[in-house]
Amino acid sequence: MAPPLIIANWKMNKTVTEAVHALDTLRARTDLLQAVDVVVAPSATALDRAAQIVAGSRIALAAQNCHWEAAGAYTGEISVPQLADVGCAYGLVGHSERRQAFGETNDQVRRKTAALLAAGLTPILCVGETFPERRAGKTEHVVAEQVSVALQGVSGSQVARLIMAYEPVWAIGTGKTATPVEAASVHRFLRRLIAHDHGEHAATSVRILYGGSVSPDTVEGLLAEPDINGALVGGASLNVQTLLAILERAAGAKERGAGPGRSSGLASSFSPTTSTSSRSSA
Ligand code: PEP
Repeated sequence: MAPPLIIANWKMNKTVTEAVHALDTLRARTDLLQAVDVVVAPSATALDRAAQIVAGSRIALAAQNCHWEAAGAYTGEISVPQLADVGCAYGLVGHSERRQAFGETNDQVRRKTAALLAAGLTPILCVGETFPERRAGKTEHVVAEQVSVALQGVSGSQVARLIMAYEPVWAIGTGKTATPVEAASVHRFLRRLIAHDHGEHAATSVRILYGGSVSPDTVEGLLAEPDINGALVGGASLNVQTLLAILERAAGAKERGAGPGRSSGLASSFSPTTSTSSRSSA
């Protein structure tokens, strides 16, 4: 069983000095880093120094955004090869802040996902519904559309290795966390969707994280759900002591739980009417 995965998204916060201090503190906790997989997404300005700090540790780095072209006249953008060059192994795609504040579309998310995969980086595909969408009963439809478009043309074996994050928009940065039951229900739906579109192996192997105001108080309950394999943490990860508290709780939470690799038997119960794509080959 894979350890829980905690991804810290620092968004547009921290100077290089502040990022270095937090990573130095995190790196020193080798006990926690044995028990929990940790990925940090600093600002692009800190990536180069961050890579030097985490070298030789179990901390990996993620980019918060990328462009789908490898190079060219795209002022202000950063390409995936450039991110790989500074030591990123992961890349966030489809974060709701990028969708909402910068108009990122499902099709752009698809192109970014493909660019990351082509360069050997692991996409962290974020999906989630707004509160009006949830109230209207459209959660499954919205996340199915986001996932299906993003993963068009992606093979089952590639899906098996990527990371998905269910992040209800109404929970991000609001202090409102989805309950473990609410989150797990969407995670199960996502696994059924993956099983239908990309096969059982992909569905049981893909790591699906929850994100949205996760804190030391809420992380244990969320990770107790077998279908929640970790957490994407924004605000609470900015204080390194709070992040360490989350890692401590996560390390304990999954000792008894299930995780990727177990048999879900999910494909049979999926209703394909919600899916917008056809199955791609593994
Ligand atoms: C995020 O940035 O993906 C996130 C979940 O933020 P927060 O934890 O602050 O809600």
